[in-house]
Amino acid sequence: MKSLFCCSFLLLLVCTGYSQQIRYQVSFNNAIHHEASISVTAEKLPAQPAVFRMSRSSPGRYATHEFGKNVYDVSATDQQGKKLVINRIDGDVYEVPKHNGTVTVTYTLYANYADGTYAGIDPESIHLNMPACFMWVKGMDKAPIEITFNIPAGNKGKIATQLYPTAKPNTFTAPGLQYFMDSPTKIGDLFIRDWTMRNVDGKEYTIRIALEADASAEQVDNLAERTRKIVSEAYAVYGEFPDYANSTYTFLMSANPFVYGDGMEHRNSTMISSTMQTFNPARLMGVTAHEYFHNWNVERIRPKTLEPFNFEKSNMSNELWFAEGFTQYYGELLLARAGLKAEQNQLMTMSGLVNTKTNTPGAKFYSPIYASNHAVFVDASVSIDKNNYSNMFTSYYTYGAALALALDLELQTRYGKTLDAYMQAMWKRFGKKEIPYTITTMQETLAGITDAGFAEQFFTKYIRGHESIDYGSLFAQAGYDLKKANEGKASIGLMASKNDQDKLVITSNTQRGTAAYLAGLDIQDEILKLDETVVKTTADINAYIDQKKPGDLVKVTYKHRGKENTTQVTLQENALLTLVPFEQSGKTVTDNMKKIRNSWFTSQVK
Ligand SMILES: [Zn+2]
Repeated sequence: MKSLFCCSFLLLLVCTGYSQQIRYQVSFNNAIHHEASISVTAEKLPAQPAVFRMSRSSPGRYATHEFGKNVYDVSATDQQGKKLVINRIDGDVYEVPKHNGTVTVTYTLYANYADGTYAGIDPESIHLNMPACFMWVKGMDKAPIEITFNIPAGNKGKIATQLYPTAKPNTFTAPGLQYFMDSPTKIGDLFIRDWTMRNVDGKEYTIRIALEADASAEQVDNLAERTRKIVSEAYAVYGEFPDYANSTYTFLMSANPFVYGDGMEHRNSTMISSTMQTFNPARLMGVTAHEYFHNWNVERIRPKTLEPFNFEKSNMSNELWFAEGFTQYYGELLLARAGLKAEQNQLMTMSGLVNTKTNTPGAKFYSPIYASNHAVFVDASVSIDKNNYSNMFTSYYTYGAALALALDLELQTRYGKTLDAYMQAMWKRFGKKEIPYTITTMQETLAGITDAGFAEQFFTKYIRGHESIDYGSLFAQAGYDLKKANEGKASIGLMASKNDQDKLVITSNTQRGTAAYLAGLDIQDEILKLDETVVKTTADINAYIDQKKPGDLVKVTYKHRGKENTTQVTLQENALLTLVPFEQSGKTVTDNMKKIRNSWFTSQVK
């Protein structure tokens, strides 16, 4: 760290002498019971109570987390090892009221949930996401950090991380808290594969895989070959790599029965965990493409609402429909372009997105900004009460991806560009220079590659608003008919199954606008009869409704809070939509249509 005021040699000494530093020591003597012993030493503390705390949030996971629950045996000492008083002043906050400038806090961490957010400790396998593990010192966010891992017996000791290596064994550094917290670390028996990619400016970057799996060398090579294709397709979208620290990007991958499925992006790495009994590289590709795309979109093309990341509370964003949703769209698209996903499957993915925007209440009646705001409650948050998400929240992943699909088609049909042009413009203006963007500056950037009128209309209707999108006209220009998947088929609009008392009950909130909702049927109602037919199973309901037509009336006998009622349901047509290629109905596919299809289904690597 440099300070502008340290201009003479003497001053430089003074400044360096007084610069603060944080040091962590991590030991795993009780790893068999999933415990780590962690000490954090802070020096040059100001003469006031020192506050050490666990985080309540984790970069890329937008809900509140209670990492403090798995921390105990907390004690504090000074530099001579003399005990200091330490008080727990909140669930996850500890205060040392008196000290002489240096404090070491030692604690036990329990970690037995290896995924993209939490941690897992076992003698053979150490899997650390930093916010779940490490206390930090309030007010010392900028202090450089050094961490030493004391490897337990029985661990192969290969360490993979984006932290900066040092000459000291098993010791790494981070320039400050934000980078440290962003640097997941795996220690164990890891397969390593790496290769060099040359950037447009001639600079070379190492792309590295560190994999924990019961796999053969050939399978790992196969994984590397597939990953390489994804990296190349992602690079082709932006035409440039981000400037990775240490000139290295690391895929930390775990594919075994001992981890929980997840993927989490970081600046120079990603933590991917996939529950697998038998190693299969193909199953890692979707998450790999999504997370790798993030190292442009969200790690560097970053919304102002997430800068800087606050570790004390959830971080609300207006832009996750773009940060996550557009990344979701591209994750799937990169697979199709790289030849890792069949055209027919990608078409099904696109049909799914059309249905998301067209048929879910959360996307019909609420803006994607609203959906993004709600991430603080849904992104791996924990609560026990019921919610009404099926009527007011659609995931910003699929909602955002549905908007990306619409914008891609708009750009292709009106301006002869693909969505790649917009991603490049966002990269050049914000990502490369690391300037945070807002909804307003996103709109300006879209205007820059289209025109002000189009950008204004798109953002007003679909981003600030929630108007419906005419996917039918858009897809017709790519040579697809958008059709009802079950034309003429009746739908009652409820999901029911047998409960533990053998009663057939509605299992999820009925969705507003559906036949069941309009007839007053709701979650936990017990269905007894449709007209005069007794129904005991889901199959009974389906068999009865299958004989009917949209518009038919059905009398439903049901129990609500134990009391028998009847209601009249007017059946509706099944709303599910599907995309059908023109070829299936003998229509001509023009060159322009083929061009759009090629942008989806063929490699864009030059
Ligand atoms: Zn993501």
